[in-house]
Amino acid sequence: MADVLIIGGGPAGLSAAIYVQRAGKQALVLEQLVVGGQIVNTPEVENYPGIKKISGFEFSMGLYEQASDLGAEIAYERASGICQNSDKTYTVKTESGKDFIAKAVIIATGAKNRQLGLEKEGFLIGKGVSYCATCDGAFFKGKDVAVNGGGNTALEDALFLTNYCNKVYIIHRRDQFRGEPGNLEAVKNKENIEFILNSTITELKGQDKLEAVVVKDKNTEEIREISVQGLFVAIGQEPDNKGFSDVVDLDNGGYVSADESCKTKDPGIFVAGDCRTKAVRQLTTAASDGAIAALAACTYIG
Ligand code: NAP
Repeated sequence: MADVLIIGGGPAGLSAAIYVQRAGKQALVLEQLVVGGQIVNTPEVENYPGIKKISGFEFSMGLYEQASDLGAEIAYERASGICQNSDKTYTVKTESGKDFIAKAVIIATGAKNRQLGLEKEGFLIGKGVSYCATCDGAFFKGKDVAVNGGGNTALEDALFLTNYCNKVYIIHRRDQFRGEPGNLEAVKNKENIEFILNSTITELKGQDKLEAVVVKDKNTEEIREISVQGLFVAIGQEPDNKGFSDVVDLDNGGYVSADESCKTKDPGIFVAGDCRTKAVRQLTTAASDGAIAALAACTYIG
C-alpha cells in the first residue's frame, strides 16, 4: 500500500511525488506511457523560474530523477478508475487489470493532444500527420510542412521545424496569437515561415500519405489547396478524466473541478496540473499544484 498514489507522471505528478517523499510518506506514481508528460516534446523551455533554458526532455528527466532519488516508486500502468474501500483507503484500478491501494490519491493526468476531427486524420497519423514536431520533425528534412494553431506549441513547433524543413506554413484560425510575443517575434524573423491566418483546414488530401491540406479563409471564404508533406497539429489539449467521473466532479470541458486548494469533493482525492479546472496551464502552475496537492494529501493522511 502506498501512502499517496499519484495518477500521472508529468510535471504535476512528479512534483507531487517529490513533496510526498520529502514529507516522509511513500508516493507511487502510475504513468501510462513516458514520464514527463507533454513537456517532453517541447524543444526549449525558457520560462521556468531559475532555469534560463532547458529542453523539455532534460527537464522531465531531471524531475523524474529527483523524485526517484527521494524514493518515489513508479509503475507503468494506465489508471482506469478509483473506488473507496470500507477502511477508507482507495483502490486505483488499471487497464491491465491490476489494483493499487493507497491512503490518498492525486489525479495528475494532464491533457492529451486535441485532434482536428477531419475525415482522413486518423488514417494519416504517421503518414504525414503528427502531433509532435520534436518527435517527427526530422522525418521532414527538406520538405514543405504546415503547423496548425496559434499557441506557444504551434509557434515553437514552427521554429523547430525551420531547422529541417524547406518551408513551414503556420495556419491559424485567427490573426491574433495566444503564444508569447517573444515566440511570435522569433517566428516572424524566419524567412521560410509563411502565415496563413483567419483560416481553417477543411480537408486533408493524400491516398497513402499526406499530400496537401485544403484551407478555407473565413473572411473571404476563399478555398486554397496547399501542397505539404507534413502537418503538425498544435491546437491545444483535452483532458482525459472520464474514468474518474464517478468520484470527482468534472466541469463542462471534462477538467476535474477544484480550486487552487487542489481538493476535490472527495476528501482523500486531490487533483493537480493541467487536468484541473484552471485559468493558466503552465509548467510553473503544474509544479505548484503538485506541491499543494501533495501537502494536502499528506495532511489528510495525518
Ligand atoms: P493553446 O495555448 O490552447 O493554443 C491552442 C491554439 O489552437 C489556439 O491558437 C487556438 O486558437 C487553436 N485551436 C484550438 N482548437 C482549434 C481547432 N479546433 N481548430 C483550429 N485551431 C484550434 O495550446 P498550446 O499551444 O498547446 O499550449 C498549451 C499550454 O501550454 C499553454 O498554456 C501554453 O502557454 C503552454 N506551453 C508552454 C510552452 C513553454 O512554456 N515553453 C510551450 C508550449 C506550450 P484560438 O487562439 O483561436 O483559440
